[in-house]
Order: sequence, then structure tokens, then C-alpha cells
Amino acid sequence: MTVHRIALTDLERGTPFEARHIGPDTAAQAKMLAQVGFGSLDELTAAAVPDAIKSAGALGLPEARTEAEVLAELRSLADRNTVLTSMIGLGYHGTFTPPVILRNVMENPAWYTAYTPYQPEISQGRLEALLNFQTVVADLTGLPTSGASLLDEGTAAAEAMSLSRRVGKVKDGVFLVDADTLPQTVAVIETRAEPTGVEVVVADLSAGIPEELAERGVFGVLLQYPGASGAVRDLRPVIERAHELGAIVTVAADLLALTLLTPPGELGADIAVGTTQRFGVPMGFGGPHAGFMAVRDKFARSLPGRLVGVSVDADGDKAYRLALQTREQHIRREKATSNICTAQVLLAVMAGMYAVYHGPEGLAAIARRTHRYAAILAEGLRAGGAEVVHDTYFDTVTVRVPGRAAEVVEAARERGVNLRPTDADHVGISCDETTTRAHLAAVWAAFGVEADVEALDPTTFDALPESLLRGDEYLTHPVFHQHRSETAMLRYLRRLADRDYALDRGMIPLGSCTMKLNATTEMEPVTWPEFGQLHPFAPVEQAGGYITLITELEDRLAEVTGYDKVSLQPNAGSQGELAGLLAVRAYHRANGDTQRTVCLIPSSAHGTNAASAVMAGMKVVVVKTADDGEVDVEDLRAKIEQHRDELAVLMITYPSTHGVFEEHVADICAAVHDAGGQVYVDGANLNALVGLAKPGRFGGDVSHLNLHKTFCIPHGGGGPGVGPVAVRAHLAPYLPNHPLQPTAGPATGVGPISAAPWGSAGILPISWSYVRLMGGAGLKRATQVAVLGANYIAKRLEPHYPVLYTGPGGLVAHECIVDLRPLTKATGVSVDDVAKRLIDYGFHAPTMSFPVAGTLMIEPTESEDLAELDRFCEAMIAIRAEIEKVGTGEWPAEDNPLRNAPHTAASVTGAWEHPYTRDEAVFPGGQSKADKYWPPVRRVDGAYGDRNLVCSCPPLDEYEG
Ligand SMILES: *Cc1c(COP(=O)(O)O)cnc(C)c1O
Repeated sequence: MTVHRIALTDLERGTPFEARHIGPDTAAQAKMLAQVGFGSLDELTAAAVPDAIKSAGALGLPEARTEAEVLAELRSLADRNTVLTSMIGLGYHGTFTPPVILRNVMENPAWYTAYTPYQPEISQGRLEALLNFQTVVADLTGLPTSGASLLDEGTAAAEAMSLSRRVGKVKDGVFLVDADTLPQTVAVIETRAEPTGVEVVVADLSAGIPEELAERGVFGVLLQYPGASGAVRDLRPVIERAHELGAIVTVAADLLALTLLTPPGELGADIAVGTTQRFGVPMGFGGPHAGFMAVRDKFARSLPGRLVGVSVDADGDKAYRLALQTREQHIRREKATSNICTAQVLLAVMAGMYAVYHGPEGLAAIARRTHRYAAILAEGLRAGGAEVVHDTYFDTVTVRVPGRAAEVVEAARERGVNLRPTDADHVGISCDETTTRAHLAAVWAAFGVEADVEALDPTTFDALPESLLRGDEYLTHPVFHQHRSETAMLRYLRRLADRDYALDRGMIPLGSCTMKLNATTEMEPVTWPEFGQLHPFAPVEQAGGYITLITELEDRLAEVTGYDKVSLQPNAGSQGELAGLLAVRAYHRANGDTQRTVCLIPSSAHGTNAASAVMAGMKVVVVKTADDGEVDVEDLRAKIEQHRDELAVLMITYPSTHGVFEEHVADICAAVHDAGGQVYVDGANLNALVGLAKPGRFGGDVSHLNLHKTFCIPHGGGGPGVGPVAVRAHLAPYLPNHPLQPTAGPATGVGPISAAPWGSAGILPISWSYVRLMGGAGLKRATQVAVLGANYIAKRLEPHYPVLYTGPGGLVAHECIVDLRPLTKATGVSVDDVAKRLIDYGFHAPTMSFPVAGTLMIEPTESEDLAELDRFCEAMIAIRAEIEKVGTGEWPAEDNPLRNAPHTAASVTGAWEHPYTRDEAVFPGGQSKADKYWPPVRRVDGAYGDRNLVCSCPPLDEYEG
């Protein structure tokens, strides 16, 4: 018998989640600390973080819980959501996610942990999937060029408004919105229009454009097709009239309806926008879903967001890449016309695959069935004496029940169905892919009508207008015909995933992007029906679990950041920026300071900052960056002085965009406040601060965070994201709110910034779980290990490459910049060459040429273990030796493994006439030959594709040979 006793409470704890999330264990941390020259994590961060910003005390968060405990808590939250059948409509519909897509895309880390496809050679799979998405949107809308997703339908419509103003002939005048537009879309447009001085007029355009409006000038018109009421109208006359007035016409359209109806392009529209949610993406209480925009060819170069195009690689083979990257905000900055950066890639992939799986006939069959249910439903109501308002509709009928709307909605709810009370006298009912006969029976009963599907079917006519039936073929490309069996679909998804490098293969050390672990436990609840199947406008009483989760997450993020109030509505960092700046704007105006419109932004800032400021109606004044990478304090003080009376806000990134803890940030904030300005701290890089410092305490008035960076929401190949905005109390009255969900924000708010009340609510369980699993101490340790990792890499690479900027004690924050410019100058080897060569070594490149051209910014995060950090350092050191060989002339500048990188399998078969061996080409650095990642294409020629813009699936013959 042994005398030992290990307390049960210790055994019960199991392996803490923290030890799963944080890569380096205690022994590895000790080694890394020794390399960096510190005895402990606390000593390291005490030296790295300036005293002026350090927060006192531990985070006031609940203790860490085990994965099993957190899953149980999530389960009980899920149980507090009541999933009724939603027939609310309004742009959100029930849909069946094909299980093969649910499991192999949405729940598959090969897809959800990928980064935005800026490195096209390792992103061919998702680029092809996005090209499919673009083809679906372009074909169904009848407009030739579609982007690779926008954030939601409301913001897509708002982007269309800005595009119309920019490209149209009419420069003044109003933006005219038809009264039958989704109410949340109208509200998002109004939020966006006001600061830029655009007047939005909502009017009934069903009988044409009223003459008094035509006389005022109209630069753009927005029509909904089918209308929010369900009505399907022939839009041709109003589009024609709008064109006579010189206006650009946008049609917000429902893609499922477009499988049967004449597409907007054919009706004459210039732009089509909408959401692809009902193409297999769960409603998720509002998101995330992929919004879309398609345009006439002549506007292709003005499309907001990302556009995937076809180009060629170094061997002349077809390859995909993001087209026209010059439009990215990083280059256009305050001249950018949209601030969108992170979009909705994962959801766009799902929607595209839904179309691949069903094909055009399958989609049309779903649409026909949906329509048929609506028609029979309406016929039954009519026969029972109810008044159905429109004769032509697709999936939605509006029923007039004078004074009884609330009563009918309640009666339906008792039968398990949510309907939409449009007003006291009208009820809206939407059918969708999931509608059944039982649902019709429930609705009839709620109206007090007796009807029978069997009896009605033979006598009910369709309610689509004859003149608008679609006659052309669409989705004719083979990809929409070849993957109908689940086996074929499974293999297609696998084939594409295999072309890509995501976090499930190795490290993605992208500075400013925080590619950390997206833990399975955090991901699991996202696809539970209790979180996935809720309509965003369902009564809050049915969303008890969500509301609790949202409130707790908001409160915990407030605690982490030191702010007083958080709104989770913005569905990307860029949108959080806009929301924050709109709050600042509203605050100044409430104080009578309407002249305060200057926004100071350091030249090194992320491109979205300047673009957001312009969208918030501000004037951007750029502040210089000093040689040490910090904000040039002298220039800043001069600019504050110069613009003292008009100063609205300073937008700074902390730690700086260069990955450094700037010493004098508190002084900078004080100087701005002194001048009557507000301080916006871009908190996308919060991974260096959590548990160590709170922007809301060291001088910030407002920040946005990126939950898809610091708080574990996966990047999804370029979205989804969540960009909460956090403010101090004086700005809280100006946070976003929502017209259809009063509890989502303050009544005094600036209006909605996203279409849904809580933005991408469906992925909030991820961040909630992360905070719950780590607890305050674990979150702090994660930050410390992230800082340790960056400093470890900086120390290891320093003898080989100059590390550009350091802060206190010669330390960096959570990322470090290695400077390749001197080497490029000496040898001709470019930062591009190094980035592509890293692919041969089995890595995703770090962030390239941001914030400084010719450099690489490396962010390891806390999740990479020491073995992976070392593998990366060794690859970089080996590459340095390769550069040396080019420098000494051993390898010619034009023919060496760097210049020729990446090497595909095909490139090392056949004749070989290079001054380096095939082994040196594809197995450098002693990597495992069995586990090698083979890039599917050679280096992609971006310029070629931009000259020959092809943005939908190319014809089949281009696939051959
Ligand atoms: C990522 C990032 C943003 C933009 O966030 P999105 O979600 O891509 O819109 C803004 N600022 C900084 C510093 C960032 O790193």
C-alpha cells in the first residue's frame, strides 16, 4: 500500500485548457526566456511593457474552466435558446446545409483556419472556391463581375450607394431607396449616408420616380427584388427612368428567386447586391453570411472588397489570385472608397459549394418548391377569407388582418412558427427550403383558416409574373454539373483543401493577423442548431442563451480592455473602426463641436483606419513616423497645434503597427485630450496587451478589437470576423443600435453598422469559450508567451537579418519586423523571393511589405510550440545562407532557388538545367520528404491577370493542357 495521496480536486482538473492553447510548455518557455535573457515571463513583460501603461492587478474574470465544463455550460446556454420554425424572412431564411459541406467545409480546419489568400500559390483551393462563388453571383444576377463577398446585405447596399456616387454622372442629388426595401438595409444605408453628406430619400417607387424627386437630382436608386413585402414587380420602367435621370441603379436581389426570375442585369440594373445566406449557411442569429455585389464590367475596377481573378504562373499554367490588389486600402488609404478588409470567405465558400452540389436544376427545384408552398399558403388564406396583399410574389406573402397582426403572430408562435408582424394590420410570411406542409397547416390555423394542401394543389396557379420568368441558362460551367454525388463532392472539397496551406499544416506567422489556435471546443457550439438556426429578428425571449452569452462577452471584453461599454455588432475590424469613429463624431456634435472633423492618423497605420475616417466624414491628416518606427511626437504635437480647433480624434495603433510598445503613448493621449480631441486606439493587436495593459485606462476613449485575431475566431480564408467596438462611458450613448431589435444598442445610438442586431452572433460562442477556458490568468499568460515568442524569434534571427524596430530594453512586443532591404540592395533577392521560398520550406510567409516595404513582419502567437518556432527560425537562417550564395555569385541572380520559388512537383521532373539540385529545390532545410507540402502552382503573375481580367470560372478548354 502506498502512502501517497493526490487530492481528487487536483486530479479532477485534468490538463488545463491553457496548456493546450499555449504552445511552449514550461520547459520550453524557460529555454526561450534564456535566449531572450530573462528569468521569467513576468520579468520579460515587466521590461517590455512601459510602466506608464501597465495595468495594476489581475483581470476580473471568472476562473478558468475545463473543456468539458465549458461545453456543458454552452449546452445549457444553447438550451435557453428556443428554435421555432422561422417564417420571418427579411433576408434570413431557413436552409439545409448539405452535411457534406457542413462537416467538410464549415467544421473543417483545412478551410476555416486558412488566411486571406494574399499568397496565391498556397491558396489555390479557396481561390477556386471563391471563383465559383463569383460565378454563381454573376450568373444569377446577370451582371458579369462579382466580388468574393461583402459583409452582409445591408452593408453591401451601402457600398453600392458609395459606388454609385463615385462612378455616376450625377454628383449631387439624393440616393433614392424604394419603400419596399428591407428595413435593416434602409437603416444601415442611413447610418452610412449621414456623415458623408448624402441625403437618402425613401419613397414608394412602384409607380415610378415621383417628379419632385427627379427634379432634385438622383445619383442612385436602390430597389429590392422581390420586395420586402414579397411583391415581385417588373423593375424595368423604373430602371429606365432612373437611367434617364443619369442615376446608377442597384437591385438588392434574392439569389434563390433569381433562379426563376429575370435577373437584375437583364432588367437593366448596374449593380446587384444581396446575401447568399440561404445558400446553405445557417442563420446564426444574424451571421456570419456572405454578402455579395456584382456590377457591369465598366465598374469592375471600382468594386469594394476582394475580387478573385484568373492569371498564369511562372510556367504559364492557369493560376488564381486576388485581382487588382492595388485597390486594397493599404495602398489607397484615405483615397479608398470602402474600408472593407476582412470579408466572409468561409461563408462564400459554403454558398458557392451549395450551388456546386445542387447545380442549376437543383437550385431551381428548391426555388420552385419554395414558391409552390408560398402559392398554396396564399391560396389557402384567400380561400379562408384572408386578404393576401399581392398577386405576384416568390416566397413571401403579406396578409392584411386589420388590427389582428399581433394576435395572429402570437397564435403562430404557439404553434411553433415565427411570423413577422409588419405593422398592426399586416403579417409577413416567408417560405424557404425547409418549409413543410405541417408549417402551412400551422400558419393557416394561426389565421383561423381551414385549408388543405391536397385540395389546393391542383387548383393553385403559380404567382410569378409571366413577363419576368427567366429564360436563359445559368451555371453552365462544368463545375456546377460534376459534383452531384456525395462521393464526388467530398473529393472535390478534399482536393481543393489539399491545395491550401492552413493552420492545420503549420505556422502562419503573419504580423498584425494573429493566427493562433482556433480550438475545437471553441468551434463546436457554432454548428449546434440552438445557435445556428435562430433568426436575428426572432423575439429576444427565444434567444435567452444568446443574450446571456452576448452580455457576458461584452462585459468580459470591457474588463479586458478597461472600457465601460462594448458593442459586438460590427462584423469586421473595419466596421468596428467606423462604429467607433461615428461615436466620436456624434459626441462632438452633441457638444456643439460640429467643426471637429480632423482625424490624425500615423503614416504607418493599417489602411482601414484612413478609409474608415473618410467614411465617418472626417478629414485625414497624416502624422509622420519617426526613424525608430514610433509616431513622430514632434510632428504629432505640431499637427495637434495646427488643427487644435478642428481636432476630432487621433487614431493610433497600440502596440504600434511596427510591433513595438511605444513609451510615450500616455503623453500622446494626454496631448490630444488637452486639445479637445478623442483618442481611438486600434486594438486589433490586443494580443500584446490582454492582461498586461488596458487601452481604456492608458488614454483611449474608444477601440475596436478583432475577435478573429486575439479571441480565436478563425480567419476562414479571409473572414468571418467580429470587430467589437469598446468605448468609455461618455461615448456609450453613441454606439450602434438596431431598428428591429431595441435591446441591441442605446436608443441614442448612431444606427446600425451591420444588418443584424448583434452582427455575426453565430460565432460569438468561440470567443466566449476562449475567455471562459483561459480565465484571467490564462489570458495574461497567453499574452506573455506571445511576447516571448516574438522576442525569441527576433533574438534568433538578429544575427542573420536586421530586426527593424525595438522598444524598451531592445524588446519587441508580439511581432517583429525583419528588414530585407539591405540584402535586396546587395543581392537582388527580394522580399517576394524570400516569401515564396518559405513555401518550399513548408511555411506560410509572414506579412510582406507592411507596414514597411521590403520587410517581413513575423507574429508567432502563443500557440506555436518551440519546435515549430525553431523550424521557422532555421528555415529563415537557411534562406539567409541561400541569399549569400546569390550575393557571392555562386548562384546567378536570375536562376536560383529563391527567384524560382516556389517549386511544384512538376517543376522538378523532366529536364533540369538549374545551378542547384532538385533536392535543394524542393527539400531544403532537411524537411521530411514524406510530409512535404507541395504547392500546386509556381509563382503567380498578378500583373498578367490584371491586364486580362477574368473573374468567373474560365471556360473548360482553359482547364486542359
Ligand atoms: C486586421 C487589422 C484591421 C482590420 O480588421 P478587419 O477585420 O480586416 O477589417 C485594422 N487595424 C489593424 C491594426 C489590423 O491589424
